[in-house]
Amino acid sequence: MSYPADSEFVFELLTCRWAERAWPPESERESALVVARQLGTKKRRWDTVVVEADPEALAARAAFGDDELDSDLLHIVRHAPADWAWYRDALPHPGYPWRYVLAAIHRAAARGVVEKRRTGRRIEIRRVAPYPDWVRRIVAVENKPDLDASAARALSGQLEHDVETALADEVWLATAATGNTVEPALLENIPVDVGILALDFSDGVVSDAGDVAWYPSSLSSDAKEGESEADTDRTETRLRLAERAYGRGWRSYHETMRPDCRHFELRREGDALLPWCAAKECHQTAAECSGSCDCFQPEPPQWRTNGWPIEGGPGKGIKRLLAQRREHVRKRSPPDT
Ligand code: SF4
Repeated sequence: MSYPADSEFVFELLTCRWAERAWPPESERESALVVARQLGTKKRRWDTVVVEADPEALAARAAFGDDELDSDLLHIVRHAPADWAWYRDALPHPGYPWRYVLAAIHRAAARGVVEKRRTGRRIEIRRVAPYPDWVRRIVAVENKPDLDASAARALSGQLEHDVETALADEVWLATAATGNTVEPALLENIPVDVGILALDFSDGVVSDAGDVAWYPSSLSSDAKEGESEADTDRTETRLRLAERAYGRGWRSYHETMRPDCRHFELRREGDALLPWCAAKECHQTAAECSGSCDCFQPEPPQWRTNGWPIEGGPGKGIKRLLAQRREHVRKRSPPDT
């Protein structure tokens, strides 16, 4: 086993941490990175998403706060003018009634991502900053630590869909290194455009944990984006995805797990912190770590008042720590791993 615990969830977290440190595999980093997990569209959800970003533009994105901008807010911040203007003059028609745009303007102003004022009966808006063109490339990674022939067959349809839709610029399959070269029979079941990464986390997360077994093809369209309706849709969907990645990162598992349980801990695995259940003495999965868990026990109230060390501490401290780490990585300059 080249990763701790027999758990795809743990492998996924380690893959995200490794990508944060070492992406792109076997080449120099030229972009800033935003790494997220479990993101996608209604039709397809990816385990790991790596957004390669222009470093300066990513820094400029911070003017719009830490939270993601949904499609309604994006419509406003991308078109808000430098000088005050009536919102209907400033924004392109959204394709739905203006009253919904007005509601989104109030929401955007409350979040501080646009300015608004009333002039007579009209609402005027002004941007707080130009919304930067920060997304360079989006890379989708499917995690399958135990890649045997039947797993490869089961995945091939989804991966073919990824290649056909080309929503991501590159698609990879990440598997746990076995020490053997990847069997050619496995490669036959995987679309030829999909890259294969063999990850060895037996020493925890280290930069050289990843070996490229097969390089992917670039799925980026040569045609200039925005020329056709399909291009526009793709651009919009990719930006929404990137925004979700920006807002959530990959450490947001604390929002669906129970760090407020007295048994919830974070344990270090090399350069990664992983959730650990002291009651079950294992890395628990996101699914089992819920309020319906038989061993769940709320943390004692006095824990919340004393301040608490990082390891094994109460929920709020863990959440704060994970949020701080996300913030730190987001602001880091690109070649610094
Ligand atoms: S006891 Fe259950 S809820 Fe508590 S940390 Fe363990 S898995 Fe999560």
